[in-house]
Amino acid sequence: MPRGVTPRQPSRSGRQDKVVTRPLRAKVKARKVSSVLKRGAKVAAPIMGRVAAAKKAAGGVPKGYNPVAPQRVNEILKRLDERYPAATCALHHKSAWELLVATILSAQCTDARVNMVTPVIFAKYPDVEAFAALKPEELEPEIRSTGFFRNKSKSVVGAARKIVSDFGGEVPRTMDELLQIPGVARKTANVVLGTWFKIADGVVVDTHVQRIARRLELTRNQEPRKIEQDLMKVIPRDKWIVFAHQIIFHGRALCIARKPKCADCPLEDVCHAADKTWSTVDIHKSAKP
Ligand code: SF4
Repeated sequence: MPRGVTPRQPSRSGRQDKVVTRPLRAKVKARKVSSVLKRGAKVAAPIMGRVAAAKKAAGGVPKGYNPVAPQRVNEILKRLDERYPAATCALHHKSAWELLVATILSAQCTDARVNMVTPVIFAKYPDVEAFAALKPEELEPEIRSTGFFRNKSKSVVGAARKIVSDFGGEVPRTMDELLQIPGVARKTANVVLGTWFKIADGVVVDTHVQRIARRLELTRNQEPRKIEQDLMKVIPRDKWIVFAHQIIFHGRALCIARKPKCADCPLEDVCHAADKTWSTVDIHKSAKP
């Protein structure tokens, strides 16, 4: 046999002998296709697994999506401005002291109810000294309808006494001093500083802000202090005061706790909240109250 000539091997399929019938050929082809598919699946499976795991870890949030990107946050702020141009504190008051009392009474109570109670007590006790002279039990019946009236009574009278004894009868205008007053935590202090003194020292985090900031993915925290810190990082300081008012309005009008009215919401297409009632965009499992 001359060098370089290799005798041809008979085909395994028996093609040369013309013995392969049509159905058998189809079977061979099908086997080839299935082996290619299996190989492909083996290669793809780990990649697909990693993508799914990454998506799951991020709560269904696509890679590269940044909910606190300035562009997104500014768009939210712009739409809130358009929808709630006149948002402000709904508690009626004529002084820093009245606002402080109204805010203490508003815990676990509607602003409408507080607005019914405060005119009566402010007519009866016209200034902070008059409240400081009371015993908490004397105030209790007057504020009973706002709920938790024993604690609220102690807080209001205690606050009045502290303001008279340590601050010359004037509500202080710094966070540190306000936090020394009985019954005053950061939320109340931020309300007084922002609404009365127009000082943006923080963001008011009430139940509406807490819920909606999480739905809008501006925070992942649940604790008010941490939510406030997150909001202070992503919201421009000159918007801290009005943002809280607008979100509170939004929480009352549309983004209510149960069954938010997403179909009417101006933020619908930038909101991926897990508990939306209607959506034109992806839902993110981690975006929930
Ligand atoms: S779309 Fe729905 S859940 Fe999102 S902010 Fe608007 S009302 Fe709230």
